[in-house]
Amino acid sequence: MKQTMKAARLFGPNDLRLMDVPIPELGPRDILSKVKRAGLCGTDYSIYSGEFSFVKNGLVRFPFTPGHEWSGVVVAVGSEVVNFKPGDRIIGETFVSCGKCDFCLRGRYDNCQDVRSVGTINAWDGGFAEYTVFPDRHIFHLPDSVSFDAGAFVEPAATSLNAIQMASVQLGDVVLVHGSGPLGLLAAKLAKLSGASKVFVTGRKDAKLTVARSFGADVAINTTRESFAEVLARHTTNGKVDRVIETSGSFELLLQSLDVIRTRGTLAAVAFYDRVLQQVEIDKIVFGQISLVGASGSTGTYEPVMALMASGDLDITPLISGRYRLKDILQGYRDMKDRNDIRIKWLVDCDDAEQGQ
Ligand SMILES: [Zn+2]
Ligand SMILES: [Zn+2]
Repeated sequence: MKQTMKAARLFGPNDLRLMDVPIPELGPRDILSKVKRAGLCGTDYSIYSGEFSFVKNGLVRFPFTPGHEWSGVVVAVGSEVVNFKPGDRIIGETFVSCGKCDFCLRGRYDNCQDVRSVGTINAWDGGFAEYTVFPDRHIFHLPDSVSFDAGAFVEPAATSLNAIQMASVQLGDVVLVHGSGPLGLLAAKLAKLSGASKVFVTGRKDAKLTVARSFGADVAINTTRESFAEVLARHTTNGKVDRVIETSGSFELLLQSLDVIRTRGTLAAVAFYDRVLQQVEIDKIVFGQISLVGASGSTGTYEPVMALMASGDLDITPLISGRYRLKDILQGYRDMKDRNDIRIKWLVDCDDAEQGQ
């Protein structure tokens, strides 16, 4: 067994280094996995660029290994692990709980007060590396029929499904999704799979909106050219929708959406806003009986997402817009910004890290 591995370590904004680091020792309930695929997320980029609010307020502490959307294969397990064995195909959760507090001991890990987020806040080392080490309670089996590529999409898809559930999308609903990145497109597809009768997606890049049209959106709206409210007026009764899923992070879109939600409709906000709510006409929410809900994380939605992937109903292939080898990951980060017009999701291939060094 090797003692060291290649890992992409982030030492601070704009300071990512591919380096040899020790492979961590395994505790009795830990799992060592060979990483196969890891997705580059907008959050990863905003930490790298330093724009992320939690970098500014010091909650992101350097250095660490980013990469919270990964899939891999078990290589070794600790002495007390019973549900996993070497060779198992797996994915990991985006946080690691303390394992000791009252909540953890009762299995309610998402209530743990001492959480480390994978590759972000108070970071646990993530998947931009040859290997990861995770406690078994945060590892899931990946069905045999689900590819490692799709495995890297389970977390973003589970986050979008959580938003769909928080928004209470019902059979026959008209749904408006703001944002044509991975969360928006996955929300559009999952809304359709949840029985939405019509799904609208807004975005600013034509290439992504073209993908949206083949991935759940009945109507895709480029907001740099058209007002979404005008498009809704042409395609719906009274220009209103039942549910809005806001993934773009645009405060303006969030506010404008209050004007297009039907009575008793729901608006679920999934993005980071880094803003204080001001100038909101609260009476609009009161008289419209609008539910404004926050949706973050993916606890409880991994299994249904993997089931949809295994059944073939959720094929994420159209969302892969580029691939990088681990040794080229810095280019992937740079292209997040430079090629944003076409980028939905970059995947990092981590299983050939030794080649071409
Ligand atoms: Zn992410
Ligand atoms: Zn805990």
